[in-house]
Amino acid sequence: MSRRRRGLSSAEEEGDRAKTASPRYYKRRVQMRAETVGGGGEGEGQDGKGGGGGGEAAGEAGRQQNHEILVKMDARLLGCTICFNPLRPPIYQCEGGHAVCFQCRGKLRNTCPICYKGIGFCRCLAHEQVVDGVKVPCSNANYGCNQFIRYYEKEKHEKTCVHAPCFCLEDGCSFNGSTGSLLSHFVAEHKWSLTNFHYDKAQRISIPQHHRFTLLVGEDQSMFLVANTLTPIGNALATVCIRPHESSGPCYSCKISAVHCAESYSRRYVFQMDPHVGSSSLHDGVQLGSFFLLVPPELVDESTDELIINICFQKIKCAVNH
Ligand SMILES: [Zn+2]
Ligand SMILES: [Zn+2]
Ligand SMILES: [Zn+2]
Ligand SMILES: [Zn+2]
Repeated sequence: MSRRRRGLSSAEEEGDRAKTASPRYYKRRVQMRAETVGGGGEGEGQDGKGGGGGGEAAGEAGRQQNHEILVKMDARLLGCTICFNPLRPPIYQCEGGHAVCFQCRGKLRNTCPICYKGIGFCRCLAHEQVVDGVKVPCSNANYGCNQFIRYYEKEKHEKTCVHAPCFCLEDGCSFNGSTGSLLSHFVAEHKWSLTNFHYDKAQRISIPQHHRFTLLVGEDQSMFLVANTLTPIGNALATVCIRPHESSGPCYSCKISAVHCAESYSRRYVFQMDPHVGSSSLHDGVQLGSFFLLVPPELVDESTDELIINICFQKIKCAVNH
């Protein structure tokens, strides 16, 4: 089994199959709201447990929960008859009752390609209420996400779900988990030491010349890795933020320099600024990106065989819309 498939849960694989228009019948656990939808104001995907508001809110949550039932249903009922993508309002129907999504309706010429009956712009409001009320668990439930999301918003949610797993880098280790559990894993299982740092302040660390990974943890518990690759012309140091999605948090820049401690070398240093530290779930390990610091061999402290590094992370406003 390749490393790439490892993190997929069976629910996610089911989702993949749903998109491929397979005729196979299968069922999916969904949570269905029997109540009329629309007066909500409940936000995306909260399962009614989170709130903690006043008594009225608690009562509202109670009433909502009373209307929720657990069902299994054929996920195809929630998909467009033509493109099989999850249906979302507005939903249109032909005179034969086939439900069609907004995009497909736009491509049709008033004839349903399934039954050849007419199709206008008749909305199927009952179906819209159903797809608004059907919620499914996030595929990252095993990693700590307890949200239930509208079926048609599941994919979007999972692209930014902060509970998506990150992966251990150690050879032969298949651990994956939330960033918090990965941090604990690095320390407990592989005895990695970590360095805590503050943003905007330079932190001095020493890295043994052959030590591959150095773990740094910011005051907001964000995890960064300094990956050290030994090349024929020196050590290449690259930084990466360990998280499942970049869109789920701030962006960072990083200044990194290497100095030589000995007096005679006091003016020798190399410097690199990474204006936008990359993010990775470490799913595919760590690759050297465009920005890395190349530390020439003469800057390695011969007495200790270590690189002396100053590193400073900053939170930045990111213009890129991830
Ligand atoms: Zn469609
Ligand atoms: Zn039809
Ligand atoms: Zn989630
Ligand atoms: Zn591990």
